[in-house]
Amino acid sequence: MPADAPIAREAVVVPRKPQDGPLNLVGLTREQLRAALIAAGTPEDKAKMRVAQIWQWIYQKGVRDFAAMTNLAKSYRAELAEKFVIEVPEVVSRRISADGTRKYLVRVGGGHEVEIVYIPEEGRGTLCISSQIGCTLTCSFCHTGTQMLVRNLTAAEIVGQVMVARDDLGEWPEPGRAPKNETRLISNVVLMGMGEPLYNFDNVRDAMKIVMDGEGISLSRRRITLSTSGVVPEIARTAREIGCMLAVSFHATTDELRDRLVPINRKWNIEKLLDALRQYPKLSNSERITFEYVMLKDVNDSDEDARRLVKLIAGIPAKINLIPFNEWPGAPYQRSDWERIEAFADIIYKAGYASPIRTPRGEDIMAACGQLKSATERARKSRREIEAEAGMG
Ligand code: SAH
Ligand code: SF4
Repeated sequence: MPADAPIAREAVVVPRKPQDGPLNLVGLTREQLRAALIAAGTPEDKAKMRVAQIWQWIYQKGVRDFAAMTNLAKSYRAELAEKFVIEVPEVVSRRISADGTRKYLVRVGGGHEVEIVYIPEEGRGTLCISSQIGCTLTCSFCHTGTQMLVRNLTAAEIVGQVMVARDDLGEWPEPGRAPKNETRLISNVVLMGMGEPLYNFDNVRDAMKIVMDGEGISLSRRRITLSTSGVVPEIARTAREIGCMLAVSFHATTDELRDRLVPINRKWNIEKLLDALRQYPKLSNSERITFEYVMLKDVNDSDEDARRLVKLIAGIPAKINLIPFNEWPGAPYQRSDWERIEAFADIIYKAGYASPIRTPRGEDIMAACGQLKSATERARKSRREIEAEAGMG
């Protein structure tokens, strides 16, 4: 890629549209919900309690119908039903991989589609959710990066992804029963689907606050990981305003290579990124940062790369997650050989860092990291490909 190539494509980010019909209560912060209830006639001195009650129904019991909110007066329930709705994305399809990984395709406002991936593991389950439809960035190894950004997801659409996965997994208590205490099916949430979460900061923050809230989805902030390609100015804000675990898509140990793999590096280079990361654990009171490193054959996988990586991150409490490259049709890279990945991991491990190699999951259903791309876009592309093949393009 030439040095003066644009880092991000031109994108029109459509702001949250004013609601045409009744207001959706999903995704509203406590303050926003309180204000909405007061505006709809709830007495101010009751509003705080009503917020807590409604949140519990929506996020802890999975209720979508005001009529079922039995600790509220019948007349109040009817008023709520007139003015508000409880809406989550609509599941269009679900595929289950041979290894148990589930991929959902959901439709959000405007008819766009987003993918969500659920990865069950021994004693835990991770839900990988998206923050944008497409991505403005153009990381050269990422399938999402080949898709134009369509728009930011709203807070409702982000927290709604967790809710529809809970619907499918049956992870809501039976009506009238206390929440389950056994191991949660969705024990972890990672913002590693489509999009750059720090380019949709406010909506991601509002959604994650609901996920972390004791009266919301109620997952500890240590079980939420936000992955960024390196939007340096928003990193300290992430620590202060969200406080979740941070993962960074590092992928290269020289600016020359990182400029090509993760083009946002041309704006904020490795040195600036590392400066911001050094501050993160203190600011967010979290133990360590995850460095994600995609293993690309003969590109970034030499012993020398491993040694440089260890030197660069010296002093930062870190774990290095090695991701065998997930291939997608037309990808310009190949996955490093297994022995190479192990040799790389070994150097990092001997330097004192945990260096887990991420087991590729759900590859048979294109559900692996970096493979997510909306179905509408794929269909469009394949049509174009077909036309080209037929000599029509
Ligand atoms: N935009 C954010 C989060 C989404 S990507 C980010 O870039 O961090 C989640 C992770 O998958 C990132 O580390 C990303 O670099 C990685 N990734 C993207 N494409 C990949 C691929 N084809 N194979 C393996 N990992 C990939
Ligand atoms: Fe966007 Fe992340 Fe893919 Fe880069 S790796 S194009 S930032 S989704």
